[in-house]
Amino acid sequence: MAETNILSGKVVSDAVYAALENRITTLVDHHSAVPGLAAVIVGDDPASQVYVRNKTRTFLDMNLHSETIRLPEETSQKELLSTIQTLNNDPVFHGILVQLPLPKHIDTDEVINAIAPEKDVDGFHPESLGRLTAGNPRFIPCTPKGIMRILEHYHMDPSSKHAVVLGRSNIVGRPMSILLSQKQEYSNATTTICHSGTSDLRSMTTQADILVAALGVPEMIDDSYIKEGVVIIDVGINRVPDESEKGYKLVGDVNFDAVQGIAQSITPVPGGVGPMTIAMLVENTVEATERLFS
Ligand code: NDP
Repeated sequence: MAETNILSGKVVSDAVYAALENRITTLVDHHSAVPGLAAVIVGDDPASQVYVRNKTRTFLDMNLHSETIRLPEETSQKELLSTIQTLNNDPVFHGILVQLPLPKHIDTDEVINAIAPEKDVDGFHPESLGRLTAGNPRFIPCTPKGIMRILEHYHMDPSSKHAVVLGRSNIVGRPMSILLSQKQEYSNATTTICHSGTSDLRSMTTQADILVAALGVPEMIDDSYIKEGVVIIDVGINRVPDESEKGYKLVGDVNFDAVQGIAQSITPVPGGVGPMTIAMLVENTVEATERLFS
């Protein structure tokens, strides 16, 4: 059986950063504008802390502006909304992200709705999602946008293929299914979206030419879920206990070893979709800044 190819998000994200350099230089030299991101984190969820640290570090590596606003777990809805209002009005920030999940007492939808749509670089605001659905996007959510970029980079045109998306969140699954089914280049797939209400998941996944797993269930997708030659995008980032010093390791939603030799290609975890999510956040923030001058 042929070897399964690795689709490296590291390689593709490096190409994204290289392509952004000129655009950033133009903004700085011609408009004295340094793209800036405000990252808001509430509470001390360890995974969220790592995600935010990785995102802000990338901004600093690219000589962009980034600030993290750390709020305690007990922050009230009103206080959080007021923080977002301040950031909406601060011209230093072209993008605002609120790291999810938020503590249980916070109404996440209300918080996302409060972000100014022109600073919604995560693409989670209903206006961003509505525009994407209507085929006129402003900001495309970073993870699905990054996945489309991986497919393009590796010349895997979804057109006329059957793409099966596992998961229907507003962050990954739903926008992913919209992007894959658009009538345009490097899209145009017949798209099926599955979720916990899907009665026979294998009957769907075994039809997939492209399988996007965004379930949040560690290593659930094994060889029994796929057909030979499928391209697998593993979005999952799951912490499972192990004997390392950290006490855990990261695994995807796909059992990487079980699909070797059957899948044509797969994104690894880590090093697949994760780096692309960050690269697209940088790209969206650069876009947000450019729009001020176009
Ligand atoms: P959510 O929990 O919001 O959504 C999970 C989706 O999977 C839901 O639609 C759920 O169905 C469905 N689902 C869960 N279990 C099953 C099952 N056994 N059978 C069928 N469907 C199932 O997760 P997210 O979309 O936010 O994230 C998904 C994964 O991707 C997580 O591991 C997360 O950490 C990771 N992630 C990775 C990113 C990256 O940069 N690589 C970025 C964002 C997320 P239902 O709707 O019915 O509940």
